[in-house]
Amino acid sequence: MVYTRSREEIEKIRVSAQLVAMTLRELGRAVRPGVTTAELDRLAETFIRDHGARPAFKGYRGFPASICPSVNEEVVHGMPGPRTLCDGDIVGMDVGVEKDGYYGDAAITFAVGNASDEARVLLEVTREALMQGIAQARSGNRVGDISDAIQRHVESHGFSVVRALVGHGIGREMHEEPAVPNFGPPGRGPRLMAGLVLAIEPMVNVGGFEVETRSDGWTVVTKDGALSAHFEHTVAVGPDGPEILSVPPDGEN
Ligand code: MG
Repeated sequence: MVYTRSREEIEKIRVSAQLVAMTLRELGRAVRPGVTTAELDRLAETFIRDHGARPAFKGYRGFPASICPSVNEEVVHGMPGPRTLCDGDIVGMDVGVEKDGYYGDAAITFAVGNASDEARVLLEVTREALMQGIAQARSGNRVGDISDAIQRHVESHGFSVVRALVGHGIGREMHEEPAVPNFGPPGRGPRLMAGLVLAIEPMVNVGGFEVETRSDGWTVVTKDGALSAHFEHTVAVGPDGPEILSVPPDGEN
């Protein structure tokens, strides 16, 4: 079942998505060599609860924390812990919020201190791929148009897109239909219509697209151990084109 949302519902999703964006901004300010991922998790949980909302990841299928920090070869679903971030690392920060029964979900990958040129290009290309995918989130297009735009951009830079994990609809649940793959042919898949809200989230690897899950049961890593980046926005398909909901209310990232 693919849901379309009323204007009122989209405004509720926006409240949650804005808080996700504000949390990511706080995390971006706190990311530095020497900080642990557990400290970042506490910061995010406190910030979200102080805004009268609930960290949506906490307790989701038993996940123990409020953010998913994914370092270097970790793709997504990393678990906060005693790990200290080091100069030159990259760290994906994935945050979900539920407020008043509606969900927002977004992610940014940050460079810790001085990242390598390869890492910086990876972050830039992944962010650009997200924006190219979002540009296709318009009424009348199909999900495959988003997928194709992302894959095309990523592969034109010699990187690969993860196949095993995909974006998703979002609203009353964190994960709803339709699935939004980051690969595949244009012109296929469910038709996009105004009121559809999607979490679009390219996961991009420097090496091969293959991934595996660590023995903790959560952390997804690249099979070849090469770097991976992840950017995500919650986006409403509007009558006049896409509207990114996961930006801070003042518009500054
Ligand atoms: Mg997501």
